[in-house]
Formats: sequence, structure tokens, C-alpha cells
Amino acid sequence: MKCAICDEEMKDYESNNPYPLLTGKNERVCRDCNDFVTASRIYFRGADEDSKQILCANITNVLKMGFSLKKSREELMKRMEEKQ
Ligand SMILES: [Zn+2]
Repeated sequence: MKCAICDEEMKDYESNNPYPLLTGKNERVCRDCNDFVTASRIYFRGADEDSKQILCANITNVLKMGFSLKKSREELMKRMEEKQ
């Protein structure tokens, strides 16, 4: 299965509940991304549910975009190294 945030492959037993960053029923996150989930749980403790959902959706989108940029950058670096 794939992590719902960074898109990396992971084993079922390595997967974690992504709430509050993600609320989809079948969405799971890897151990690394679970640190962001835990941080969000701590950071938004006591916040009202509506604000928490909006902020968490934005955080998740920033994380997803960041991981996507990282993957593109790493692929470009790899291709440049292969050309040398
Ligand atoms: Zn992940």
C-alpha cells in the first residue's frame, strides 16, 4: 500500500491513522508522515473541529506538494548524474 501523503510504498503493519491531517476511510500514512500527524494532533489539541479540518487540509496539501517537488528534484539529479 502507498502512503496517502508522501506516496511511498509501505507495509500494512507500518501504516498509521492519518487523522486529523486526512479523514478518508481508507487513507493510511507511513511512519515518517505519521510524525506530522502526531504534531498536528498536539498542535491542534482543543481547537474547534471546523478550523482544525480547514487548517489540516491546507497542511496536507503543502506536504503533498513538497514531497512531489522533492521527488521531481531527486529524479532530475539522478538523470543529470547519469549523463556525466
Ligand atoms: Zn508518508
